[in-house]
Amino acid sequence: MHDFHYKGKELFCEDVRIADIVEKTGTPCYVYSHNTLVDHFTKIQRAFADINPLICFAMKSNDNLAVLKTLINAGAGFDIVSVGELRKALLAGADPKKIVFASVGKTEEEIVFAIKKGILLFNVESLPELDEINRIAGKHKKTVKVALRINPDVEAPTYSQVVTGTLKNKFGIDLNTAQKIMKQTKKYAHIRFSGLHVHIGSQITTGEPFVEAIQRVIRFQEKLKKTGLELEYLDIGGGLGIIYKDEQPQTAARFAENVLPLLKQTGLKIIMEPGRFISGNAGIFVTRVLYLKDNGVKKFLIVDGGMNDLMRPTLYGSYHEIVPLIKKAGRRLKMDVVGPICESGDFFAKDRLLPALKKNDLIALLGAGAYCSVMSSNYNMRGNVPIAFVKGKKFDLSRIRQTFDDLVKDERIPAFLN
Ligand SMILES: *Cc1c(COP(=O)(O)O)cnc(C)c1O
Repeated sequence: MHDFHYKGKELFCEDVRIADIVEKTGTPCYVYSHNTLVDHFTKIQRAFADINPLICFAMKSNDNLAVLKTLINAGAGFDIVSVGELRKALLAGADPKKIVFASVGKTEEEIVFAIKKGILLFNVESLPELDEINRIAGKHKKTVKVALRINPDVEAPTYSQVVTGTLKNKFGIDLNTAQKIMKQTKKYAHIRFSGLHVHIGSQITTGEPFVEAIQRVIRFQEKLKKTGLELEYLDIGGGLGIIYKDEQPQTAARFAENVLPLLKQTGLKIIMEPGRFISGNAGIFVTRVLYLKDNGVKKFLIVDGGMNDLMRPTLYGSYHEIVPLIKKAGRRLKMDVVGPICESGDFFAKDRLLPALKKNDLIALLGAGAYCSVMSSNYNMRGNVPIAFVKGKKFDLSRIRQTFDDLVKDERIPAFLN
């Protein structure tokens, strides 16, 4: 479910005509829907109402300040992966007591900053990281709460690039090592072992991998309990899949049906870290047709957006539905939708059936709310594109277009070249 829909022949976001937005922003641009974000957040909240979990939005999926503020207003916490994300969450007004910090490569600077801000939990991904947090916490005369991120060695059917829960991946701590750590908790004077964490990957559409991973972690928790080690939190990560094309992902309600009985039996406070499920369908990317090219073998629709603005197709070969801003009847033609970047990997769609579009027509890539604008770069000296944020009848820019001056302001020509 999302709030991008046609009224008559024209594409709207909530009650705003997207063409009216583009008049102000120019192209390319992103458009985000407030109500879609809240709707998806609420779906999870409702499905899990029985256990009132802390829902920490994975802000790496979309860290726009308007998105963060919307979710703070709805009661969300945040799952962060860097000090930059932590600072941005705080800037948006997040409560540090609702922030959990994952990342296999936390630096001393990041650990110190997060300790000083009093975040809820460090999700620890290795034994040496645990030693480091213990040392740094000691240096600052603090005791910090950690959850061990368990790598449950569970395979999940999704893009190989976003599988995280098998022992071939760099994430989390294997169960043997976790067991050893938990046998010598006294060694860590400045750590409070408060929980277990598991996150097995992204865009997972079926229930089984989640159930299997959670079961493995709960079995471990039960073992710990028998030895007298009581925990406080179980963080079950994110990874819920959404619809891009013809996926049939489990709904939040079905997910809850599958895992609630398991979670309840633990008696622990549950933390969840959905990213894509909340933000994925809350955004679109709007781009303008520049040229049509037919080389006798293939037709190309050349648009003004590129892989630097939205790189999921390039990175994962992933599918985004493409629709025109003004509905067109008539024959559909097969074409590649490509950007202006000087890379053959710069495409949004291959052999896609689209209506007969012409120069200056506007099209939208749907499902562009997660892992899209956050991955953009300045490749080919292209500035970040604007983001329009819509709520009901209102919209405003939550990011303005980067200028040429923005792009060169950090560079210097060394004096010895003159
Ligand atoms: C990326 C990530 C998430 C969110 O994943 P989604 O598939 O967007 O829900 C949650 N937790 C951790 C630790 C992550 O790295």
